[in-house]
Amino acid sequence: MWCLPEVVLFTVVAATSMTIVHMLDFCHKADSECQIQDIFLSGQQSRAQIINSRWNASVLNLIQNLDHFRVSNEKLKGAFPIDEVQGNAVRTVKNCIFSESSPTPLKGPLRLAAVSKDVLEGLLDLDMAVTQSEDFLLYISGGQRLPGSQPLAHRYGGHQFGYWAGQLGDGRAHLLGQYTNRKGDTWELQLKGSGKTPYSRSGDGRAVIRSSLREFLGSEAMHFLGVPTSRAASFVVSDEPVLRDQFYDGNVRAERGAVVLRLAKSWFRIGSLEILSHSGELDLLRKLLDFVIEEHFPSIKSDHSDKYLAFYSRVVNDTAHLIAQWTSVGFAHGVCNTDNFSLVSITIDYGPFGFMDSYNPGFVPNTSDDEGRYSVGRQAGVGFFNLDKLLDALRPLLTAGQQQAAERVLKGYADIYKARIHQLFKAKLGLLGDDVEDDDIIALLLQVMEDTQADFPMTFRQLSEASAPQLHNRNFTQAWALEDLSSHGLFADWLSMYLQRLSRQSHDQDATRQARMKGVNPRYVLRNWMAESAIRKAEMNDFSEVALLHRILSLPFITQSSAEEAGYAARPPRWAQRLKVSCSS
Ligand code: AMP
Ligand code: MG
Repeated sequence: MWCLPEVVLFTVVAATSMTIVHMLDFCHKADSECQIQDIFLSGQQSRAQIINSRWNASVLNLIQNLDHFRVSNEKLKGAFPIDEVQGNAVRTVKNCIFSESSPTPLKGPLRLAAVSKDVLEGLLDLDMAVTQSEDFLLYISGGQRLPGSQPLAHRYGGHQFGYWAGQLGDGRAHLLGQYTNRKGDTWELQLKGSGKTPYSRSGDGRAVIRSSLREFLGSEAMHFLGVPTSRAASFVVSDEPVLRDQFYDGNVRAERGAVVLRLAKSWFRIGSLEILSHSGELDLLRKLLDFVIEEHFPSIKSDHSDKYLAFYSRVVNDTAHLIAQWTSVGFAHGVCNTDNFSLVSITIDYGPFGFMDSYNPGFVPNTSDDEGRYSVGRQAGVGFFNLDKLLDALRPLLTAGQQQAAERVLKGYADIYKARIHQLFKAKLGLLGDDVEDDDIIALLLQVMEDTQADFPMTFRQLSEASAPQLHNRNFTQAWALEDLSSHGLFADWLSMYLQRLSRQSHDQDATRQARMKGVNPRYVLRNWMAESAIRKAEMNDFSEVALLHRILSLPFITQSSAEEAGYAARPPRWAQRLKVSCSS
């Protein structure tokens, strides 16, 4: 059912004991908010109170003057050899991890289309007042260097759509520097769409409004859904014309350049290691691996003889968990190439991604993906492919015995994924403990959903919102997704299995079950039509819908009146079915 190769079903690498609550990063920050998900927020005031309450303890001493905000690439530059060639001329680069490269300022008046208060205050220690300054706009669009910044472009390669593509690299991204915040967390700040680098190949180094808006909102929405992801601090639009053939049909149009300031703990990818292995730069491969392990896998000891194997096991485990989380929220990345798969197992490089409306394992968000290689149901299998490529990259550093052990670890990937997906879907259905029927309950529901083209997020949400008596009486007047589902001949059987299963949870209250389910089943996800509607307005310099979506998607598990008015939990409009998203960005 999950399109995983069934042959890879043995060595059990135990799934970690990560619970559903841990999955929800948002709930970490605001436990009390998660207890009150029933609240129907009546307006801006109460929402603002909730958001502000997160930061009450930390708003003091935020940086108000950008001259005091310093980033640095010294650590990265000290750790690795840097490309000796200067300038942004496109070239094949060898024997280094980074090239020095300066952003090219965007032309025309700049507009701050969106900014993330959560990122600015919570990760960068910046007071929102800084967003009022002209300098801020220049810093976050590549027009001026942040104090301390010596921008870099990263050299990496990758397998694209199954084939080795050679050198890729940051073709339109600049790593401005690292910032260690007052909690002691280090974040890497990167501009995307900031101009050419040595890795731009035939590209212009730019990104347009539609793709930047999608990355900004998409990554922030994923964070608040509890899925590990890069973050987005800001989104700036310009008047610089950027030519794009959006659907590769010869219809080239002048769009407008935009830049997103995005953050990750690390931007290294599977392709970062692959290129070094492919070109036989084994000392550098070892150096990069040691660096990644030391910085991001502190539990793996640097003098351990099996450290690369331990690292590989962690990436296999964490990638399985990440993709299971994607599946559980109906997210399809769209371009699961090895250059877009993070070594620290976060979601990166948002392109033609999509949240599925109707449940369909064959859902392919990217119209350029003719074969459906990266359909939502195949992502887990693609994860296996990508991890196999990672193992190939590591092989030169592993003994024969370690390679065999790593192969066994990889074979355990399917079990890790299945265990996690089972856990996640059980939580989506409010099921506690283990019951022999659980697999059947999940599988039959998904089958009925697929047959009836039931809406993925709202089916689970409405199951969470309905009381057991409502479910029993099939009282679905307020539940359009369940109404669709109930037209299926097997729905009654499924419902009775489900209700009986719930009734066996003797210590569970129905209200508790509902609250638990509402905490993992979002009422709002960034559906394509919602992003499209915001894009159309943004292209006319109206950013109100970006702000609305950004606000709403930062509380996806809480019913909000402004979201209801906008129809974000309603049946998607008919025109949504005709929408297409391509790789062009
Ligand atoms: P993506 O599909 O965005 O992950 O990009 C794949 C590769 O193409 C990466 O090396 C990107 O940096 C590069 N790339 C994509 N778009 C552009 C562009 N407009 N200009 C330069 N390089 C680009
Ligand atoms: Mg990419």
